[in-house]
Amino acid sequence: MVRYEDQEIKIYESISGNKETFTPLNAPHVGMYVCGPTVYSDVHLGNCRTFISFDTIYRYLLHLGYKVRYVRNITDAGHLENDADEGEDKISKKARIEAIEPMEIVQRYTTGFHDVMAQFNALPPSIEPTATGHIIEQIEMIKTIIDNGLAYVENGSVYFDVEKYNSINGDYGILSKRKIEELQSGSRELDGQSEKRSPLDFALWKKASPTHIMRWPSPWSDGFPGWHLECSVMSTKYLGEEFDIHGGGMDLKFPHHECEIAQNHATHGKHAVKYWLHANMLTLNGKRMSKSTGNTLLPEELFSGNTDILEKGFDPSVVRFFMLQAHYRSVLDFSNDALLAAEKGYNRLLEAVKNLENLSVSKESSTDVSKLIKSVYDAMNDDFNTPVAIANLFEGVKFINNVLAKKATISATDKEDLLSFFNSFIFEVLGLKKTGGSDNSKTLDSAMDLIINLRNQARTDKNWSLSDQIRDHLAKSGIQLKDGAEGTTYILSE
Ligand code: AMP
Ligand code: ZN
Repeated sequence: MVRYEDQEIKIYESISGNKETFTPLNAPHVGMYVCGPTVYSDVHLGNCRTFISFDTIYRYLLHLGYKVRYVRNITDAGHLENDADEGEDKISKKARIEAIEPMEIVQRYTTGFHDVMAQFNALPPSIEPTATGHIIEQIEMIKTIIDNGLAYVENGSVYFDVEKYNSINGDYGILSKRKIEELQSGSRELDGQSEKRSPLDFALWKKASPTHIMRWPSPWSDGFPGWHLECSVMSTKYLGEEFDIHGGGMDLKFPHHECEIAQNHATHGKHAVKYWLHANMLTLNGKRMSKSTGNTLLPEELFSGNTDILEKGFDPSVVRFFMLQAHYRSVLDFSNDALLAAEKGYNRLLEAVKNLENLSVSKESSTDVSKLIKSVYDAMNDDFNTPVAIANLFEGVKFINNVLAKKATISATDKEDLLSFFNSFIFEVLGLKKTGGSDNSKTLDSAMDLIINLRNQARTDKNWSLSDQIRDHLAKSGIQLKDGAEGTTYILSE
């Protein structure tokens, strides 16, 4: 069994910009927080990519034997339009338009999110806390920040004093690499009506206008918490003042994560997060998939093929495989062709696992199987490099096909090792499903069973012209028959 004690994982840390050796604060325990969705609409495929990236990291850490507490929140209050301090709450706005309760919106899209993540075979997090479930804790953190002199109350709202914070700590902008002077000169002058002392300040608590429905009592006003606060509060509550991993999409670096860092530092006098990880964007037609621009694709459209972008539907495992063929820090562009290619590759991988089970063994292997397996772990240990890990898995596929074609040999123990490695790595770590691939692969299997039986009958009848005709026709269609000691199998040629 591969254990974390024997592996050195390097993680690209967003603040340092370096790949750093992963040493958890309190091994075997690992605390991981990932910013979850704002549940005011269906999640699009871009959101899914980020959650699948972190699901794979979570799965790998579990696979190595770490005891991971994975916290991923649900933002169900406080996230205002344009990610700003003004404007309507995204959830209340949707509730107003549909004339239903905000919590009905929250329930609907939380359920939808869970359904989609289950289709992608993402494991549920250990804890999934909501912003509305932690109003008291948020009020408590605001009190501490005020007591520490880094927030001020203005007309029932509370703002974080960015300039004062930075004059003491000097680290505002540490993650997003923005300099406070540039932020100051780049921001618009306050319009006289603003309660903020500086445009850089951000809301910890907002007094609710009379029409704002989602409101809670606080020492300052009936109001609601600022968007950034919930993540500081819930990560502290469930993972402690210091924890290992904080993740989210790149677009959250500023202002969301930058403000989180400042809030935690202002509250506890230290940085909370040991490793900041940021997942890159999924693009469509070269542009970031985003709800606000309408440049999106919904998972449902993808599974059904009910969209102009695709010529057919794709299995969730194929989509997951497509995503894992890119590194989580690289931009990934979505297209019909890319998915077709992923489907083909994924089916080849599944075929190989099946063929491996039936391989006949020899005394010795012609390939170093343990080296092959190690190369996959090495790739994962290099900042969770799934594309390289998958490329190395395909070296295994090539080897299996060579053994099938009698161009290579495998020993009984290597066959057992490779099979258990393939099974645990593909299904447990990468989170792909055995039944996945396309439904076509199951249909093809069943049709091929019939064809192989007919050909066997032709051979028994010594009808060589028919049996050759079947073999040649299949070969032209890209299907190669392999006659072996344990019967006839087929592989899809490249
Ligand atoms: P939101 O619900 O808007 O807060 O987003 C939920 C998560 O999805 C965040 O971590 C975002 O960074 C991430 N996200 C949004 N758009 C994309 C995209 N096009 N590609 C990858 N991740 C995205
Ligand atoms: Zn967050």
